[in-house]
Amino acid sequence: MPEIILKNLTKTFGSVKAVDNLDLTIEDRDFVTLLGPSGCGKTTTLRMISGLETPTVGEIIIGGRVVFSSEKQINLSPDKRDVGLLFQNYALWPHMTVYQNISFGLENMKWSKEEIRKRVKEMGDLVKISDLLDRYPSELSGGQQQRVAIARTLAPNPKVLLMDEPLSNLDAKLRMEMRAELKRLHREIESTVVYVTHDQLEAMTLATKVCLLEEGVLQQYAPPLVIYDQPSNIFVGDFIGNPSMNFVDARVNEVDGDKATLEASEITLEMDFRSREGELKSGDEVIIGLRPEDIALNPESGANTCTIYSTLPSGMETVVRAKIRNTMFSIVAFGRVDFDVDSKMEISFPSRNYLLFDKATKKKLGAGSLKFRD
Ligand code: ATP
Repeated sequence: MPEIILKNLTKTFGSVKAVDNLDLTIEDRDFVTLLGPSGCGKTTTLRMISGLETPTVGEIIIGGRVVFSSEKQINLSPDKRDVGLLFQNYALWPHMTVYQNISFGLENMKWSKEEIRKRVKEMGDLVKISDLLDRYPSELSGGQQQRVAIARTLAPNPKVLLMDEPLSNLDAKLRMEMRAELKRLHREIESTVVYVTHDQLEAMTLATKVCLLEEGVLQQYAPPLVIYDQPSNIFVGDFIGNPSMNFVDARVNEVDGDKATLEASEITLEMDFRSREGELKSGDEVIIGLRPEDIALNPESGANTCTIYSTLPSGMETVVRAKIRNTMFSIVAFGRVDFDVDSKMEISFPSRNYLLFDKATKKKLGAGSLKFRD
């Protein structure tokens, strides 16, 4: 049962807290992505799980076995942790062919020649290197080497796979293909995966759960769509999504049961809450969060008029910037649509997914629908 539990895990380098008191349970067969900006502690967390980095304090349990405990003075070496490792620059053995690189670990595990041959073929097909099996690493491109490294890690069928940006050397098209393959593979091999990436799209599309870190501190740990729809704070809302969430500064004017009137710069909005996580009172400084696809542009009706500032049509969707009085919104309109710059449109809020954050603490206060008030 390769469940991974991290308890109060902390790593300091001199005065830098790379990972700060991290509590995390990665369930059996989860695909967890560690996501966050550069330097937030993703790689350090992964290296501590693998045994390549010694935590300052805390405990790590893999499959019911304590592999590290500062209190009990346990620290198993990487090879005793039963994990498969794949790093961005994971070196291949230069004196071995691709076939030998992939088969080497299997020979050590005493697989039969026939089983090895079959497995190397499977792996070769999977990462599209079947025609390169007789070459040496120096005869491969960077992307091909990376694919061999993926095949080598996956070949012994490890139950826990730790990966650090394994696709970052691949070109965009291959990267996309490999993402789909990795996800499919995860289903097939039934392993628990921890995967470091700074690419939010990669983190969202691959994961069963995303672990978002900032400066070593856990910000949110949830399935991708929960992270997207219910970010726990402004950092998460802003980090996830492209184009980014719109944030509008406002002051609470009036609270009436589940409704609040919000005064932004020259526009007044009313939020009807469907969930509330914090107290709200008149005079509070807040920030409204709106996803660009939750704002609609309609033919001008005379009310709630905005002016189109710029448009970026890409075929599948068009990213529009539109200004209503002092407030500029990013809007995504799906389909093959475009709008004339400087033309007037009506703006509306058809979703129920608008968010309200506390300006001081940055935490989410609630979510609900939104409409203009005169
Ligand atoms: P990136 O996306 O840039 O790879 P990351 O989120 O993986 O970043 P880490 O590599 O885990 O971040 O680093 C976290 C913090 O710890 C950073 O401030 C980094 O400078 C620091 N750090 C990491 N390794 C060491 C080290 N060996 N010695 C000193 N400081 C370190």
